[in-house]
Amino acid sequence: MSCGRANEQGAQFCKSCGAKLSQSDNSQQGMNNSASDSDAAFKQNNGYQQYDISENVYVGTTRMTKKEFDKCESIKPITKNLMVAAIITYVIGIISFVVNVIVAGNIFGILDVVIVVGLGLGIQLAKSRACAVALGAYSLFNLIFMMILTGRPGGWLIIICAVYAIIYTFKYQKTWNKYQQTGQL
Ligand SMILES: [Zn+2]
Repeated sequence: MSCGRANEQGAQFCKSCGAKLSQSDNSQQGMNNSASDSDAAFKQNNGYQQYDISENVYVGTTRMTKKEFDKCESIKPITKNLMVAAIITYVIGIISFVVNVIVAGNIFGILDVVIVVGLGLGIQLAKSRACAVALGAYSLFNLIFMMILTGRPGGWLIIICAVYAIIYTFKYQKTWNKYQQTGQL
């Protein structure tokens, strides 16, 4: 009803705009399941089933879970960019492992691999802003370290990757926060 997009039968939320689908949109679901109970509560509470003060968000059936949210079409450009940034960290990790640990025999190089891949996982799976910022700090440190070591700056790929990760983890969080407050994407 909100954006005009057709959704699958039985869907609770619009895949396009995130709006809660009303019972009339969802009549195929029937009256005697849990959806009718939550719809009653939905109407009674003027659209919001429950307000979580500690989290400052609305919870319950009036909002998508983060899993459902991640599947929405308008979120995909953000999650795709985060996935690309994460994959770059995995590639950097693999190259770093081969070059520093296997070829050069530097056992401490494993630490670099763990840091980069670990932050990449945090960016991809948790969409973590903290991991993105930490990757930014690490890549700057790496740049300075390479400059001291070789006399010229290095590690550009990881810096670009960190900038991407910072931009898109913050975008993701902003969209999620807005959705929590308005129920719209
Ligand atoms: Zn919609």
